[in-house]
Amino acid sequence: MHQSPNDKNHYRDITLDNQINVILVQDQAVQRSAASLAVRVGHFDDPADREGLAHYLEHMLFLGTKDYPRVGEFQTFISQHGGSNNAWTGTEHTCFFFDVIPEFFEQALSRFSQFFVSPLFNQEALDKERQAVNSEYQMKIHDDSRRFYQVQKELVNQQHPFAKFSVGNEETLCDRESGSIRDEIIQFYQSHYSADLMSVVLVGPQSLDELETMATRLFSAVKNNHLHAKTVTTALLTQNEQQLYVQVEPEKDARKLSLSFSFPNMEQHYATKPLSYFAHLIGYEGPGSLTLLLKNKNWVTSLAAGGGISGSNFREFTIGCLLTAEGLQHIDDIVEAIFSYMKLVFEQGIESWRYVEKQAVMESAFRFQESVKAIDLASYLVMSMQRFPIQEVLYGDYRMSEFDRSLIESFIPYFCVENLRVWVTAKELEYDRQAKWYFTPYSAQKFSDAQIQRWKNPTHFAEFALPSKNPFICYNLDPKPLQTEQSLPRLIEELPGFRLWHLQEPEFRVPKGSLYIAIDSPCSVNTPQNIIKLRLCVELFMESLSRQSYQAEIAGMSYNIYAHQGGLTLAISGFSEKQPQLLHMILEKFAARHFEQQRFDTIKTQMLRKLRNASKDRPLSQLFNHLSGILQPNNPPAGVLAKALEEVSIEELPEFVSTLLGKLYVEMFVFGDWTQEAAQGIADELKDALRVDNQKYKESLRPLVKLGNNGTFQHEIHCDQDDSAVAIYYQGTDSQTGTIATFTLANHLMSSAFFNEIRTKQQLGYMVGTGNMPLNRIPGIVIYVQSPVAAPIDLVASIDEFLNAFYMVLLELTEAQWQNSKQGLLNQIMAPDNNLRTKGQRLWVSIGNKDKEFNNRELVVEHIRTLTRVDMIRFVVNQLKPRTANRLVMHTQGNQHHDAPPLQLGQEIGSIEEFQLMPKDIELG
Ligand SMILES: [Zn+2]
Repeated sequence: MHQSPNDKNHYRDITLDNQINVILVQDQAVQRSAASLAVRVGHFDDPADREGLAHYLEHMLFLGTKDYPRVGEFQTFISQHGGSNNAWTGTEHTCFFFDVIPEFFEQALSRFSQFFVSPLFNQEALDKERQAVNSEYQMKIHDDSRRFYQVQKELVNQQHPFAKFSVGNEETLCDRESGSIRDEIIQFYQSHYSADLMSVVLVGPQSLDELETMATRLFSAVKNNHLHAKTVTTALLTQNEQQLYVQVEPEKDARKLSLSFSFPNMEQHYATKPLSYFAHLIGYEGPGSLTLLLKNKNWVTSLAAGGGISGSNFREFTIGCLLTAEGLQHIDDIVEAIFSYMKLVFEQGIESWRYVEKQAVMESAFRFQESVKAIDLASYLVMSMQRFPIQEVLYGDYRMSEFDRSLIESFIPYFCVENLRVWVTAKELEYDRQAKWYFTPYSAQKFSDAQIQRWKNPTHFAEFALPSKNPFICYNLDPKPLQTEQSLPRLIEELPGFRLWHLQEPEFRVPKGSLYIAIDSPCSVNTPQNIIKLRLCVELFMESLSRQSYQAEIAGMSYNIYAHQGGLTLAISGFSEKQPQLLHMILEKFAARHFEQQRFDTIKTQMLRKLRNASKDRPLSQLFNHLSGILQPNNPPAGVLAKALEEVSIEELPEFVSTLLGKLYVEMFVFGDWTQEAAQGIADELKDALRVDNQKYKESLRPLVKLGNNGTFQHEIHCDQDDSAVAIYYQGTDSQTGTIATFTLANHLMSSAFFNEIRTKQQLGYMVGTGNMPLNRIPGIVIYVQSPVAAPIDLVASIDEFLNAFYMVLLELTEAQWQNSKQGLLNQIMAPDNNLRTKGQRLWVSIGNKDKEFNNRELVVEHIRTLTRVDMIRFVVNQLKPRTANRLVMHTQGNQHHDAPPLQLGQEIGSIEEFQLMPKDIELG
């Protein structure tokens, strides 16, 4: 197998007697073992009158089996042993996967493999799983990508299986007079599932021999029906569906244009990747690019090329733009400009050095690939096995073997008007049809003759130029020799208002690094007006940078600037050799800081739209948004920010930035393939740029409202949506390791029991759970449910009943279960870092948390070890039991439950301003 030199795993591929292809991966460092199974069966295989059957089957397989007949046995086993599981059904594949702590891998795998050997399709769970499928459908019924997908389905050749509805619901999966759907599921399973269509991946610390024994023992019994891989032969598009101009109405306020060109399946060319070559040139964002021209005309805010739907006999190449309001009036012009730029690419852009650049980038990405979690590796590999020859499963996505001019040129003719469909998504257009299942309004008409003429002979734009050579590509890929044995970050410079941390990374020896720069600015976060101004400046800055930083990103570096409760943070990661150039470029831009009116208008409008669209988010997301808004005065909810943003004018920004820079506190962390001198050098450049000399330095305060000893507070949000939702938040009294340990363990113990009770048993909703919710450094727990079937008053009643009885659950655990559960949590917390980037991120969080010894995590773990069952029962009874608990209940009453009585509970938070006058925990930086 072609393997990255940075990949320390051991691989072995075998084929079992029943023709299942298996890849075994030994990764000695993994925290959890993982397995995945993919089968070449998907919704394309659904019977015409049973849409969603493959998906329903995927759900039904996860139930009882001959050896493990109890429904839920697998899930319980996995969650009791620190694991997780999931599955998805795609167009032509279905994929199942899970992870679990290694000691229990074989037992978990035994349960998992039986799904494909002796599933029972338990009669008693038939209805429940149909409900689960139906709620998946219901839950996404307002999701614009789903609503759009359905329109796509209605505008292809209706003989092609892509035309079918993939999710399924109560209606398509109902029992009919002819009998229960169970027989059809079994029939479908027997005629479509077969060992020769399957691939399996096992990942774990176990030896390859052990893994092989497990695979052979557990998967050899899967039946081989010798079905061979199916391919679709019906054309996705006929003349009738080509040259369509489609208008789609979104629910959210969004404006998009997308051009889709249709190609045959391209998988056979994976080694040369001709379409990525085109995508790279068309999607370029630097000087002279199509993107920049369209941005300068104020027609688009972004452009991306190359994605699209694909299947065994089709592949779409999409060029997608987010439009401005003005751009919406210029669709034909934009399409013309796209054709004009493509003409330049086709006539002058097919050059071998461009291919070589892209190849170098892909090679270095492959060579310095960072390891991922076992479950991600397993689910990625198992699908790679369905796409690439076995030797190439690790390399296939990266390989760019050679510049083949004639092959690349042979695909140019596909980029023509005859082979194009244009999609416009925006409100207030004209629509004369409605898509089934998702009720999306849309219209479709053939291109006009004028459009065809124009797009076939596009005007030449003098501004266009092809990308120049990329100065950011790193060719020096050997990491620098280690200077010290140092394994934790060290503070190497401390001035009033400036702190520099450094660590040359000893464990992951790759030529990569991360730079973190936190700029605290108290006066930029003290009012909603200033908070939104800061966010606006960041957006404007990011946007103006994107024009120049594009090549750096292509070369494997990335950067992000984001505003937060204290000010803003700049993070740069990826290959480190050219990071100083990138930082230099960013600082230069920052120093210039001038704001163009047109960009300002566009970005402000965009931000306003995003903030206002938050009121269309899922009820639960809105509750969370308001919850943090109420408790963190520096983090106001979307509505408040939208209001503040309306008032902001461009004239205010320069002064705002000057005030911001007048009072700064900077904390910097240089991590990875950096020597101490180099770290100091880059820090000096930063200090010069920010003029860190003679300012008044001050860290920002990050206040958090304390719930105190006040019993239950409640706050209602009006969402105007069908579902009701409730989120109940419990707050720690301090941020001591003991409190963090107790909250973390309580959440861990509660989460699967809560899920089982509220979702699986009571079926109150699809989005159900509990979670750790630390705010600032104070630990917290949140318990939430969004429900199509019950009003807040009933949801709270169910949750309270659960909380009142929860100590019983703890009492009933066997000693082994108690220890296992605790151990599972400890493993999660102590999970080793997967790669340089995640390690950098973890250390940076420690710096932010003032964890100067970098041992908080260990202290919390030590504390959890000492917690006894009695401690936890006491905590649950004293602090979580509804009658005495101090908590905040956020709720929203769905339109479906208007008739239910309103929730009356505790003290209503009337004015948020007044509520925020309560005592606060004030925390520095
Ligand atoms: Zn599902």
